[in-house]
Amino acid sequence: MSLSAPRAVRVRAPGKINVSLRVGPLRPDGYHAVASVYLAVSLFEEVTATAAAEPGITVRVDAGGPLSIPASGIPLGPENLVARAAAALAGHAGVQDPAVDLVITKHVPVAGGMGGGSADAAAALLACNELWGTGLSAAELASLGSQLGADVPFALTGGAAVGLGTGDQLTPVAAEAPLHWVLVAADTGLSTPAVYGRLDALRSEAGAVAEEPQSADPAVLAALAPGNAAALASVIHNDLQPAALSLAPALDEVLQRGRDLGALAGIVSGSGPTLAFLAADGAAAARLETALRAEGHNALAVNGPAPGAEPAVPADNS
Ligand code: ATP
Repeated sequence: MSLSAPRAVRVRAPGKINVSLRVGPLRPDGYHAVASVYLAVSLFEEVTATAAAEPGITVRVDAGGPLSIPASGIPLGPENLVARAAAALAGHAGVQDPAVDLVITKHVPVAGGMGGGSADAAAALLACNELWGTGLSAAELASLGSQLGADVPFALTGGAAVGLGTGDQLTPVAAEAPLHWVLVAADTGLSTPAVYGRLDALRSEAGAVAEEPQSADPAVLAALAPGNAAALASVIHNDLQPAALSLAPALDEVLQRGRDLGALAGIVSGSGPTLAFLAADGAAAARLETALRAEGHNALAVNGPAPGAEPAVPADNS
């Protein structure tokens, strides 16, 4: 390593909500094809990569943040997505005996349907690429990232995008004015595979035959482009919502409460259980956040689109 190489690099990457999520039938390969409209929001994970004296990849989690996220349930071994990201980058770029300590500052709910682990992986890829001077392009990082999780490429790019395939075939879309949301985090997470499994079971019980989605809902894209919250409220949609509500029925009441307190619309974020309420503007979001907190909910006002993975603070070059 040259003397000018940074010793520590800190990168932040956003959590996401799906303002529209259409899910196809279970495919023979075990995946579901989706047509997703992703929106990155201003709730960021941070990963700090520090050069270590001894070879190895270590992981530590600092949890808390504005939603008081607990660190429990996050693996600290090689299966953590930041460790897998660092190992994948080292393997791809030929870094011998990688030596890095990775610290995650966790703000996105764990197993919350906001792609927090994917944001961590995206941040780790960018941080290690900088720390090791491996110089992979954005496209190469996205390709490595898609092998770690379907939401990783989006966490790298941020903004707003349509995701097809398993969600990793991304096309950026216009979102020219910020939209204001209030997130409500749940006490416990939901397993993404369990929610997809419940969707398949509910469809089969109902004799419903799902079609493979080919494109995102044009009405959603038309409302998203100018940041028209009222128009978006009438078209946001999540095929996974009935499955998430069937696994966590208490969420239904919170969804209704958010609407009663002034949200234009409320939706389960991805596979849940985090809820996302759409507000008319920033002031309405602040009022809704206060009202939901007064009733004991773990609520946070955010906005989107937010930028993708990027340096968080000046790197420590000491
Ligand atoms: P999805 O991207 O499917 O919406 P999610 O947001 O619901 O995922 P995550 O918080 O990304 O859920 O994590 C899902 C599981 O992945 C966790 O329960 C945990 O076991 C595992 N995991 C591995 N690495 C991480 C990480 N860095 N942060 C959080 N969870 C991780």
